[in-house]
Amino acid sequence: MRPEFPLPHARRRPHVPMRPLFRCRGCGARWPCSTARLALLFRYRDDPEGLRRYLGEKLLSALTDQPDVAPLALATRFLGWLPGARET
Ligand SMILES: [Zn+2]
Repeated sequence: MRPEFPLPHARRRPHVPMRPLFRCRGCGARWPCSTARLALLFRYRDDPEGLRRYLGEKLLSALTDQPDVAPLALATRFLGWLPGARET
């Protein structure tokens, strides 16, 4: 029997986005949640360009799914946390 609310330390559910609101499937926070950010930084530790491309694709999907949300707010949420995001 599955608990209604997963335990805080349950790591079974991946912290991936659920469309169209891009809430985290793992914890319900706005994606990318802190766990997702850590996982992405680790997964793309040797490919920062690939990470930006991946997040850019998610951002494009979010912009399509949520046309009423300010694009800059979505861009900041998806890309603003990246190391060196303020550099060009
Ligand atoms: Zn999460």
